[in-house]
Amino acid sequence: MAPKLSQSFLLSVLVFFLSSILAATHEDPTRRTMEEFSGYPTVPLHSFLSLSPSSLFVDKESLQRQIDELSTFSDTPAPSVTRVLYSEKDVLARRYIKNLMEQAGLSVREDAVGNIFGRWSGSEPALAAVATGSHIDAIPYSGRYDGVVGVLGAIEAINLLKRSGFQPKKSLEVIMFTSEEPTRFGIGCLGSRLLAGSETLANALKETVDGQNISFFGAAKFAGYNIHEEHLSNVFLKKGSYFAFLELHIEQGPILEEEGVSIGIVTAIAAPASVKVEFEGNGGHAGAVLMPTRNDAGLAAAELALAVEKHVLDSGSVDTVGTVGILELHPGAINSIPSKSHLEIDTRDIDEKRRNSVIEKLHQSAIDIAKNRRVKLSEFKIINQDPPALSEKSIINAMEVAAQHLNLSHKLMISRAYHDSLFMARISPMGMIFIPCYKGFSHKPEEYASIDDIANGVKVLALTLANLSLD
Ligand SMILES: [Zn+2]
Repeated sequence: MAPKLSQSFLLSVLVFFLSSILAATHEDPTRRTMEEFSGYPTVPLHSFLSLSPSSLFVDKESLQRQIDELSTFSDTPAPSVTRVLYSEKDVLARRYIKNLMEQAGLSVREDAVGNIFGRWSGSEPALAAVATGSHIDAIPYSGRYDGVVGVLGAIEAINLLKRSGFQPKKSLEVIMFTSEEPTRFGIGCLGSRLLAGSETLANALKETVDGQNISFFGAAKFAGYNIHEEHLSNVFLKKGSYFAFLELHIEQGPILEEEGVSIGIVTAIAAPASVKVEFEGNGGHAGAVLMPTRNDAGLAAAELALAVEKHVLDSGSVDTVGTVGILELHPGAINSIPSKSHLEIDTRDIDEKRRNSVIEKLHQSAIDIAKNRRVKLSEFKIINQDPPALSEKSIINAMEVAAQHLNLSHKLMISRAYHDSLFMARISPMGMIFIPCYKGFSHKPEEYASIDDIANGVKVLALTLANLSLD
């Protein structure tokens, strides 16, 4: 950065901090009373006057080293990363994160399932904290940035604020969520879903096993978490536990990079619903059974797959999407008419009603197709149907203010992938910050975000945290 630019940058940040503090001081009669009583300001203004030019900068070298080090806790060779819940590598990575939190001076705690919290107590610790975080688990053969940027970046944001002499009023907290990816137990956002109080999940976990028939509790025990059934509800957090929750994340799409925009400010997170469908017919010999007498379960599946596309397009919104990611035919032989078919359908939207109406139409189509083709619709099961989430207006505003003060180009956008923020939104006002990633690649080894882009995200996160902490 040119010296001229860095000076104006510093000045704007200083003005921003000072105006925030002044606003907070004037608006808060409790603090005024406390200050009169104690004889000195509870937010030390002097710390801002002693800001050194280097103090507001991200330590890019350390942050990049941490990202690289964390990526070595992997079950597959570099550049790929594979880090599955409660595996040996996951345990090592967790230890690494806890160490960094402690080095940052945070007080660290873990809940029963291993959500990790690092807290920096504010001058008014009784107030609901401002939290930020993401995940570090990685699906097989993925990259080193998904989730990681939002955990290591959050710890660096705290370090940046500490270096700058900032003193929070509301406590600041970094959260590392357990198992955002559904790899091991088929449940995405396991940790944040539980934090948000999902009784359904707490009950389901009692019976849940992985592909090797290892129970959730058994796997957790291997990782050092000796969970008893009754502990699961202790993980639940009350609504209002946090004043705000923020997540920094790579975009996982190409828009920011293509448009040359530094920061994406997420206004809504689309939520997935998934449906399992099965058709059954009589099957038969591909030569001997003539067309008029067939009831082909495979063709019923094919027709339903096209119906998914039709109903999604009929919604009239580009925000509605639908995918048939799994289509299996039984017995799967070239000379055998399929007697069974199995489809798994994923549909997403930021509008819950619109998405659910797609599912209703699909159900009707499945019934009609079964009737017309004389096959049996043996299953139409909605596996999950999470509501989408909207970011909080005041947090969107705080993120925009931060980006403006840092002179970073930014745009409002929708998150089409889901994140822990989707579930945190159930118990806290929420906001997300996106940064560009190379060609939008994610969930593969080519996933990449430049340290400069990451640093921009960390700065926006730090200033937003600071602003909300004094709010
Ligand atoms: Zn992620």
